[in-house]
Amino acid sequence: MGEANRVNFYGLSLLELEEYLLRHDFKKFHAGQIFEWVYQKRMIDPEHMTNLSKCLRTFLNDTFSFSLLEIQTIHESEDQTKKYLFKLEDGHLIESVLMRHDYGNSVCVTSQVGCNMGCAFCASGLAKKVRNLSLEELVGQVVAIGTNEQIRVSHVVVMGTGEPFDNYEAIVRFIALINHDKGLAIGQRHITVSTAGIVPKIMAYANEPIRSNLAISLHAPNDQLRTRLMPINKSYPIRKILEATDYYFSKTSRRVTFEYVLLKGVNDQKEHIDQLAKLMKGRNAYVNVIPYNVVKEFAFLPTDNAQAMIFVDGLMKQGIQATLRKEQGSDIAAACGQLRRRWDSKNPDDCD
Ligand code: SF4
Repeated sequence: MGEANRVNFYGLSLLELEEYLLRHDFKKFHAGQIFEWVYQKRMIDPEHMTNLSKCLRTFLNDTFSFSLLEIQTIHESEDQTKKYLFKLEDGHLIESVLMRHDYGNSVCVTSQVGCNMGCAFCASGLAKKVRNLSLEELVGQVVAIGTNEQIRVSHVVVMGTGEPFDNYEAIVRFIALINHDKGLAIGQRHITVSTAGIVPKIMAYANEPIRSNLAISLHAPNDQLRTRLMPINKSYPIRKILEATDYYFSKTSRRVTFEYVLLKGVNDQKEHIDQLAKLMKGRNAYVNVIPYNVVKEFAFLPTDNAQAMIFVDGLMKQGIQATLRKEQGSDIAAACGQLRRRWDSKNPDDCD
């Protein structure tokens, strides 16, 4: 079978691989062995999977593609954050980010080529959505970075380009696969999915058997301002989002994170602190206050540090749990809201 006709291994769950093996007269328990070779021992050449029969190794070789996502470029920041540019099979380019923390290695995953949400401050949304990423492309970002760096990826955040819940089915399968103990074995509490607030999908996610941390991109404490910053607010206003996150909490007992990017003079004033505190009051919620990274196409400016501290303190004084996020990778445009869809595969740096 030619490479193009092979089944992409990273697009199969353990269950699907078991069924595939059974259909071809192999025992299903081999699926777990193969998963361990690929995801835990990083062995992608079936010839070296020594606990499998020669016959099964030949079958794997002939049937599956284990190729990793193609790395186009890697940019490294002063703080060791790395931005990976991957080329997909159809030529589209996506970015993922590796952040090193004292508690482990975290990969920020992109969920779509482009994004249709149109948030007014976000570089990632400048290019309209072209398509959703497939399961193998989602898993492939984590596996390729872990393999290239020879590290264990301990945390995953789905906060790159795209709205994850606009690619719901693949995201749920992705989380199940990277969480599986024979897959990448990343704990549910070490995986975070961030949504702009697609209410029906938040409700559906609350009912999934496998979940992650949930983060909501809020960014404004009233509907008028939020609709200006995030057009999706017209369809799903703040009240609806809070109803959905309350439901999520009732089903999961998991605290929800609300992300709030500070835009100078826009959403960082005393009135905004008070409005936000009122929204959060009585909820098991946490506000992640994020410094804004300048995007040259937009007129927004970052709030200065002193005002950012006043904002966080103001929330905490009203009993709301909040912290100011330390940004990583802003010097290589790898920070929040700075990832882009790259149009020119021959010269990806042109887009910066
Ligand atoms: S913030 Fe997220 S949802 Fe909004 S445009 Fe950017 S990538 Fe899309």
